[in-house]
Formats: sequence, structure tokens, C-alpha cells
Amino acid sequence: MAAGSAIQIPTRLPLLLTHESVLLPGSTMRTSVDSPRNMQLVRSRLLKGTSLRSTIIGVIPNTSDPTSDCDDLPNLHRIGTAALAVQVVGSNWPKPHYTLLVTGLCRFQILQLLKEKPYPVAEVQQLDRLEQFTHGHKSEEELGELSEQFYKYAVQLVEMLDMSVPAVAKLRRLLDNLPREALPDILTSIIRTTNQEKLQILDAVRLEERFKMTIPLLVRQIEGLKLLQKTRKSKQDDDKRVVAIRPNRRISHGSITEDEEEEEDHDDVVMLEKKIRTSSMSEQALKVCLKEIKRLKKMPQSMPEYALTRNYLELMVELPWNKSTKDRLEIRAARIVLDNDHYAMEKLKKRVLEYLAVRQLKNNLKGPILCFVGPPGVGKTSVGRSIAKTLGREFHRIALGGVCDQSDIRGHRRTYVGSMPGRIINGLKTVGVNNPVFLLDEVDKLAKSLQGDPAAALLEVLDPEQNHSFTDHYLNVAFDLSQVLFIATANTTATIPPALLDRMEVIQVPGYTQEEKIEIAHRHLIPKQLELHGLTPQQIQIPQVTTLGIITRYTREAGVRALDRKLGAICRAVAVKVAEGQHKETKPDRAEVGEGEDCKEHITEDAKPESISDTADLALPPEMPILIDFHALKDILGPPMYDMEVT
Ligand code: ADP
Repeated sequence: MAAGSAIQIPTRLPLLLTHESVLLPGSTMRTSVDSPRNMQLVRSRLLKGTSLRSTIIGVIPNTSDPTSDCDDLPNLHRIGTAALAVQVVGSNWPKPHYTLLVTGLCRFQILQLLKEKPYPVAEVQQLDRLEQFTHGHKSEEELGELSEQFYKYAVQLVEMLDMSVPAVAKLRRLLDNLPREALPDILTSIIRTTNQEKLQILDAVRLEERFKMTIPLLVRQIEGLKLLQKTRKSKQDDDKRVVAIRPNRRISHGSITEDEEEEEDHDDVVMLEKKIRTSSMSEQALKVCLKEIKRLKKMPQSMPEYALTRNYLELMVELPWNKSTKDRLEIRAARIVLDNDHYAMEKLKKRVLEYLAVRQLKNNLKGPILCFVGPPGVGKTSVGRSIAKTLGREFHRIALGGVCDQSDIRGHRRTYVGSMPGRIINGLKTVGVNNPVFLLDEVDKLAKSLQGDPAAALLEVLDPEQNHSFTDHYLNVAFDLSQVLFIATANTTATIPPALLDRMEVIQVPGYTQEEKIEIAHRHLIPKQLELHGLTPQQIQIPQVTTLGIITRYTREAGVRALDRKLGAICRAVAVKVAEGQHKETKPDRAEVGEGEDCKEHITEDAKPESISDTADLALPPEMPILIDFHALKDILGPPMYDMEVT
């Protein structure tokens, strides 16, 4: 196409003046048109013309169009490229302009400028076609050698690239099929060259000269690639690297770092593809991913869809398609774990053990989903966690309170920026295995809205007949949820959607008596809080009567959550005292904290020398352990919120 003798261009050509880039015969360039004469040319010639001839224009490089059409034309570069305007796109933003897609046909030289306004037109002489007739026998031989040499370098260069990339394979074929004299122009526009170099190639009208000038450019590119491959190899030996030379579409003074960044990104895509191929995803998923990666390779990175597709593929790779933890269920051990972690709640623990025993015997449980129903803070979540612990599984809590959109469960379709997978798939990604314990917290707080009914989506998730091929809208391929152990919690069954309730076995978890709460506090909550605050029993002492005081005067709840919080507040206050005390000198004659004294005495006595705030006021180090009596309680938690109840 490029320098073919068959091309006959008109003898008069309208001229498009460009200064940013150089179009060579045989290559394509996108150029922006916004100066007066160039705009005129597009409007009156390209947009109004009806014949093929009218789409042929002369592209003059290295010459900028004056900013006003009254200004004189600058000196025109004498040699240009006759080009076919393939596409014209107009836009009014940020200012009126056109974007032209032009394909170079052949060189021409300006013989005479015929007119300057409204756009320049010149009488021209076609150059490339004449070339074939200008050299004698000797130079033809020399040219044969030169072109052979050029061809060899070109083949070497192309073969250094990844032939599995379709564009590279095509280029390799083109090297054999195109006339040799077209190759210098085409390769110059593909490899990394400056505008100045391109201009020199354009000006090299004699073929021999053109070959001579392009060979060093090819050699330079080959050496550059070799160097790049060497450094890459030492960095990451086993990864197959693709080094792609960039087509001439970009303006070639784009910085090298930008190009390298792009190459790196390209490498990332190759890595991603490798990960996809080696991952254990389902056949269906693999097919979709390979299709997407193919699209990704062709997509410019600036497209919003590029990031979307990439995120999608990365998620697909990360998902635990085939990764699971090994169940280690031993009923006796499970009983010990449950007893150790929780005081009281005998009925619940009994039912959980039965459930686990059946699981152990049947291996695959398609039974109902356990749903713990009870007031807040009675240990529903914490039992769920213990179940995961006894099974040796990962635990993940999915809060459903207030969820009113079914895409929260099932994900958004991947059609807009910001789409995400649903909570189930997200949870699987977080835990990284396909058989975790999922605690669906507060199923009674699911709401309905215009965005669909999340309960319906949840039904599908929980249905053992369906959930082996659960399809999240974002993934758009099935994921097997049958290995996931679901447990639900709720405060009441009244608001659980009936269809959902039907799938569940409800286990009531009633509130605790005061005695139970005291036991829970001393066996579980206080040791946990001490550990959380870095305290030891030698530093703080909370008598049972104080705990009872907290329960009756500071909390009013069925569970133990507020109690836990109050204990946390006490530990914080004591931690400050302990930390302060470590910096103060001991003054032994003060603050005889009534160790072992009955706390009741402190309440009845008017004097309260052991109060935690007093010791602070007097800047004395506290005596260990710091006893939390009612005065201390008042100092830390404020005055009691409720009247003492008769217990
Ligand atoms: P729920 O999920 O019912 O709202 P949580 O499981 O979050 O309650 O429990 C709140 C806190 O109370 C947790 O720290 C938990 O360990 C503790 N807790 C509740 N019941 C008991 C119990 N019977 N034994 C030990 N700790 C308990």
C-alpha cells in the first residue's frame, strides 16, 4: 500500500499542516485539528466532498498552522505525505475541533503553492512512485543487499517479541508479504523514534538512503530490547516477558517512563493470565476469565472498563474455588471448647453438640440452618465463633441488620463503575477458604425495598438444593456454597420472613439470671478485659459484690454486653492508675487500701480513703491490687443509673 507504484495521487492537493507528529507512508495517525486553515480544510473539503479523490490530502509535517487565517503561511516543509482521511470526528469540547484519522499513501513534494486561503492548496509531484525508475543497475544490486540486511534486522526485532500476541504474529507475516521498499517507512513508524528521526526518514526520498538511515534505528531498538529483557530476566527469571513496541499512534515524544509503566502493566496482565490458568476455578469461570483477559489485552488502560475488568479478574483469581480447611471434629473436644467458652446456656450447647454429632456421622449435612434467637449480648455470636473453632474452620460474620437491597447479598451486575460482589462472595474472599462458618447476624432485621427482597436472595444461599451453584451478579458464574456452614442469629422470630424461618431450626437463647451473669463476668468477661488492657489479677481486684452492683445499678439487660462494657471502663481507669503508679515513688504511709476488707464496710463508712480518685488526687501510687469497691465504681462509672433492686 505504502510506496506501491499503483498509487496515483492528484496533482493538486489541499495541505494539512501538522507540527506535532510525522506521518509516514504506510502508517496511520490520529491528529487533532483546531487551527483556522486546517479547520477550513476539514469543513469544506473532507466533510463536503463526495468523491474518493476529495478524501486525499497532503500532510505537511513540521509546519504549524498560523493561529489566525489572516496571518501569512510559514515556510512549508517541502516534502509531505499524501494521505487518505479515513475518519473525521468533531467535538465542541473544550473548544471546537476535529480529530482526523489519516493513513499515509506516498511521499510528494510541493512544486508550487497555488493558494493560501481558506486553506493551502499546492501543485505537487508524487515521489515514491518515481523512485523505482531512478536507480541504475549497480545501485539496484546495492539496494538488494541493503534491503536484505534491513529485512534480517526487522525479522530479528519482531521475533524478540511475544509471537503469541496476535498483532506481533501479523507483523511477522507482513514482513514477508509487503514489498521490501515499504518496510523502512512502516518499521520507523512502529519502533520508538523521535519526530526528528521520522522527519529525516520522510525526507530521505531515495530508497537507498532510507534503508541506510533506518537500519541504525532498528539496531538501536534491538539492543534496547535485549537490555530490557536481560534486566527483566534477572528480576523475575521464570516469568515469560512480553516486550511490546508501541505503535506510532502516540506522539513519540511521550516520555520513556510512561512507556515503561505501560509495559509493566502489560506484564501484570500476563502474570494475571498465568494466575488464571493455574488457579483451580471452575471450567465455566475459567472460560469467562480467559475471554475477559483477551479483551483486557486489547483495551487501552485509560478506559474505565480496563480497571473494572482487572478488578473482576483479580477477584476471580483470589476466590477460594477449591481451597478448604480440613474439618477436625471430635465431639468430646467440641463439648470441652463450648463449656470452656461459655457458662450456662446448657440447652443451646446441647443442641449444638447434637448438630455437630450428626454432621460427624453424616459427613454432609443438608439439614436445617441453626438460628439462635435471643436478646442482644447473650452469646449468640460467640457460640457461632466457638462452633467454627471446634470444627477448625474459618469464621466470618455477615451483618444483615438494615440490609434492604438484594444486591447486598447477590452483588451488582458488572455494568457500571462501582459495582461490587455481594457479601457472601466478599466473605469468601476475606476468609480465603470455601468452607467457613458464616454467621448471618440479625436475620430478623432484613428489610424490603424497591431494590428487591434480600430475603429471597438469602433463601437461595441457604437452600442446599440450589447453593452449590450460587450465582453472584458480579461474578456472573456459579460458585459452590455447599461447603459453607451457615448459622443465623436474631433477636426475635416475629420479623424473620416466613420462608426464611421455614428453613431454620430456631434455638431460643434466653437472658441470664443475676447469678449467671456474675459467674459469666468472673469466669469470662473479667479475665478477657484484664488481658485486653494488659492488667493482671495482682493489679486489680473486683469482688463479686461489686459485679452484682454493676449488674443491678448500672445495667439493665438480658445479656451481658453492657456489663462487659462497664468492666472494660473499670479496667481502663485502673490501667491509667497502674501506668501512672509505675512512674511515681512509693510513699508507704498513705492509702491503706482495704485489701480483703468487706466492701460493705466501705459503703456504710463515711470516710472513703481507698477510692481510686482519692489516690490520684494525692498523687500517691496505688497499692496493689487496686480493689474496686462501690466508691471506686462511683468514681469511674458515675452515680448509679438504677436503684438497687432486691435480689
Ligand atoms: P449476641 O451475639 O447474643 O448479641 P455476643 O455473642 O456478642 O452476643 O456476646 C457478647 C459478649 O458476651 C461476648 O464477649 C461473649 O463472649 C459474652 N458472653 C455472652 N454469653 C456468655 C456466656 N454464657 N459465657 C461466656 N461469655 C458470654
